[in-house]
Amino acid sequence: MNGTILISGAGVTGLALAYWLDRAGFSTTLVERSPEFRRGGQAIDIRGVALDVTEAMGLLDAARDLRTQLKGMSTLDADGNEKERTEERTFSAGRLDSDDIELFRDDLCELLMSALSERVEILYDDSIRSVDDRGDRVFVTFASGASKDFDLLVGADGVYSNVRKQVFDNEASVVFPLGVVLALFSTPNLINLGDWQLGLREDGIGYVVYPSRDKSELRVGVGFGAPDTPLSRNDTEAQKRLIAEQCAHLKGDFPRFLEAMKTTDQFYFNELAQIRMPSWSKGRVVLAGDAAYCASPFSGQGTSLGLVGALVLARALEQHWNDLPQAFAAYEQRMRPYVDLNQGIVDLTRNGPVPDEQLTEAKNGIDISDLLRETK
Ligand SMILES: Cc1cc2nc3c(=O)[nH]c(=O)nc-3n(C[C@H](O)[C@H](O)[C@H](O)COP(=O)(O)OP(=O)(O)OC[C@H]3O[C@@H](n4cnc5c(N)ncnc54)[C@H](O)[C@@H]3O)c2cc1C
Repeated sequence: MNGTILISGAGVTGLALAYWLDRAGFSTTLVERSPEFRRGGQAIDIRGVALDVTEAMGLLDAARDLRTQLKGMSTLDADGNEKERTEERTFSAGRLDSDDIELFRDDLCELLMSALSERVEILYDDSIRSVDDRGDRVFVTFASGASKDFDLLVGADGVYSNVRKQVFDNEASVVFPLGVVLALFSTPNLINLGDWQLGLREDGIGYVVYPSRDKSELRVGVGFGAPDTPLSRNDTEAQKRLIAEQCAHLKGDFPRFLEAMKTTDQFYFNELAQIRMPSWSKGRVVLAGDAAYCASPFSGQGTSLGLVGALVLARALEQHWNDLPQAFAAYEQRMRPYVDLNQGIVDLTRNGPVPDEQLTEAKNGIDISDLLRETK
């Protein structure tokens, strides 16, 4: 396939898309704003149809080897005392007897990266500053000052997508905040936690703590109601202060985690939102993954949507490269019912796990068997 494609964002969606586009013969470039491969983040899940996509990429066994392999969880009270324990499920993965794969986001990204050929160019520490879609080509200027033109630009740069902000007019109306802040940070494994998860869920606040795969670190996730005045996205110190305030009443080991948070360099903070757009494309620009249809971590389905969406978009582009509107229509037609199902499970999960039957329906809610056959 002859064509040049720029993807903004080297997360799960961007990397998976780069894999498929490169395989189809497109000349593929990724631009990622992190200065280098980004570590940290908690566990994410590959479920249902996304397992088939992972298999088609030849990565299923390797992904299984990277599973978090937690054995269960304890629910704690605010004083740090255990209220309940179970070996049937964890806060993050749900049921432990399912075929789903729970693994760390950075492990999955590293795995996807390892599957990319040398032809894929990755520009770290850069970001798109301006986009000029001239109809026959799309001209891009980077923050670094460089500029280049491409046949197509894909925004796979997450829930607060830079490409979406720059290209689509209706930005404010497509972000549906869920009123909850999620903070993730890593600390040394201060409590020698083994294959186990600790968590608290009470009115207005929840946390989950578990060890990294090599047990050297703890990955801590905290969620609470979003402040009335949103914090600046770049003000990490203010974000850390807010977390310390919100968690001040938590006792047991939690104060030690908060102390370690002050100096961690693996820190992520975001107000959770769903992205619901009437259309995922405009001219020579198209969105994928969280940028287009974030279902939020409450769904546990963001990674699967990204993996499946990457294949569906890549195949649509391959099949209809000379008619982009047709390619985008094919992409949306197939993905939208699946996205709707998965966004629909969120309201139910805000106070607890998604009912198993509903998750099963959502995670299998798309038929891509024809696309998978064509990849063989
Ligand atoms: C650091 C991090 C930790 C996360 N941890 C969790 C978690 O614990 N649980 C969970 O359910 N979900 C988590 N998520 C979200 C989850 O990864 C996604 O929902 C899912 O994997 C779909 O991914 P995506 O590739 O569409 O978006 P994302 O994973 O958000 O990836 C977007 C990528 O684009 C990059 N980017 C953003 N802006 C720009 C820009 N202007 N220019 C260039 N690149 C840009 C980001 O650095 C990132 O690499 C996390 C996301 C991030 C970025």
